[in-house]
Amino acid sequence: MLYRKYRPQTFAQVVGQEHVVKTLKGALSTGRIGHAYLFTGPRGTGKTTLARIFAKALNCKKIKNGEPCNECDSCLGVNQGNLLDLIEVDAASQTGVENIRELTDSTTVAAPSGGYKIFIIDEVHMLSKSAFNALLKTLEEPPSHVIFVLATTEPHKILPTVLSRVQRFDFRRLTPGQIFIKLKEVAKSEKINVEDEGLKAIAVSSDGALRDAEVSLSKFRSHQDKITVDDVNDALGLVPFKYYPEFMGYLVANDKVSALKFIQRIHDSGVDLEHFTKDFIEYIRKVMMLKINPAVLTTVGEEPVQNWQVDGVKLIKMINIFTLARNEIKTSPVVQLPLELAVLELLQP
Ligand SMILES: [Zn+2]
Repeated sequence: MLYRKYRPQTFAQVVGQEHVVKTLKGALSTGRIGHAYLFTGPRGTGKTTLARIFAKALNCKKIKNGEPCNECDSCLGVNQGNLLDLIEVDAASQTGVENIRELTDSTTVAAPSGGYKIFIIDEVHMLSKSAFNALLKTLEEPPSHVIFVLATTEPHKILPTVLSRVQRFDFRRLTPGQIFIKLKEVAKSEKINVEDEGLKAIAVSSDGALRDAEVSLSKFRSHQDKITVDDVNDALGLVPFKYYPEFMGYLVANDKVSALKFIQRIHDSGVDLEHFTKDFIEYIRKVMMLKINPAVLTTVGEEPVQNWQVDGVKLIKMINIFTLARNEIKTSPVVQLPLELAVLELLQP
């Protein structure tokens, strides 16, 4: 898998999450290491990757400017996944109290290397209540050589007693621009010949999760010819971006006939109308933002939004009407009908 192959091995290689990297490197350089960290944030944003880099840096024998060397026995052990000082637990599959007891019992034993013993517990919100309580006992008085990194996508499910004992870091969704840059690097070194527009489409569709974007990119590994944005849209079932300004154009021009023909045409070409409507609402939102603040610049990887000559009241009306239409598409006997009615309602004289 590409996301494994290109998983960052140093802090410098991590895309985004600068606030987390900075604080962790600061802790390493001052020696003020906490005993329990909580990494929260959406899936695919690098929580376990950063936990592993941190674990590596903690025990690295040749740490340099806060970066693990990736050469010493300890670093290599982490990279190869066979270091005894690093214990990774997937709480989604090991949820029981006996799993956590086994783990907390082992905290009393020193790390084989004599350094830190690091426990990464992924999806920690999945632990049962009794397992949480068992973990809490160790978090209250951890042995000095033990460090916990808990990771979760759902921090609201973590007990307040646990939250009060951890240092919390919130991971952010990556921007399409950040994902695009990374995809371009990976595509280049894998010799996957995708045009930039195609990479942008993948970046925008992955909702801030770099791992998802890399999984999508890996679907094109076996392609020989140049991969176009249309190929990407087809393969991933994405709605081509060009449809949004086209549809908007008909609405702004009060062109009912073309708007209705357009709906039929994209439906016939296999576009999921609910998906289209959802993203079209996002498009209208961007048009509105641009009107409020023309200085808003779209970043690399994001499609530039046109500055439409349309008043704010009409935009708000559009958002309301299409939001209702989107909900109705799910239950409508004729899938195009809610969108068609939305057009007629919006463009009535
Ligand atoms: Zn090292």
